[in-house]
Amino acid sequence: MSYQIAVDGPAGAGKSTIAKSIAKRLGIVYVDTGAMYRAMALFMIQNRIAKEDSVQISKKCKEADITIEYRDGEQVVLLNGENVNGLIRTEAVGNMASAVSVNKEVRIKLVELQQKLAQTTSVIMDGRDIGTVVLPDAPLKVYLTASSAVRARRRYDELTAKGESCDLNKIEQDIIERDHRDMTREISPLKQAEDAILVDSSDKNVEEVIDTIISLAKERNLG
Ligand code: C5P
Repeated sequence: MSYQIAVDGPAGAGKSTIAKSIAKRLGIVYVDTGAMYRAMALFMIQNRIAKEDSVQISKKCKEADITIEYRDGEQVVLLNGENVNGLIRTEAVGNMASAVSVNKEVRIKLVELQQKLAQTTSVIMDGRDIGTVVLPDAPLKVYLTASSAVRARRRYDELTAKGESCDLNKIEQDIIERDHRDMTREISPLKQAEDAILVDSSDKNVEEVIDTIISLAKERNLG
């Protein structure tokens, strides 16, 4: 029997690092839904559509064919047939993703894709609305969070390790802004599902968070 683990939480809480490791440990598939919103955002940037132009975003998203493949265990996002993994991890695309993800047509399209992916295989899926909207019946839902200062510091370390120059205060401001937009949007706002378990990673390292979630999975006889 296949099962699902839903992981939601704000930007920079460590969702993807943790979900990826748990997928490996449990031998299930990791689905990164943020990457799909990022691919949609890239498509809008490539087509020079402004993030405020909701009419064009609703129209144009119909032309974006977003699909997922797994190559060597890694999720590859294809935008109209092209692998865009290398193009979607910038702050500009992340900020655009947060803006396009308020759009109803965009969400309907991507939620459908996500639900299909979870139908036949066991998955750990991360995002903002997985426990509340995409997989409401998931037997384990985790709401993973950390303070904005801790999340900004992690993002800063990640970017500087890649050789990108950045400003810590600006990153924290962007995170606060993105959280606000994600939590107050009309459709599928980021919030903890009633039956989700809160895990705060501010004072925990990656291994501690992984162990906490694996224990929760075992308690539910998953994996
Ligand atoms: O998680 P990541 O930073 O890659 O997501 C980029 C943006 O996509 C988020 O800020 C959020 O606005 C949006 N998103 C969403 N629903 C999801 C996953 C991501 O609205 N399930």
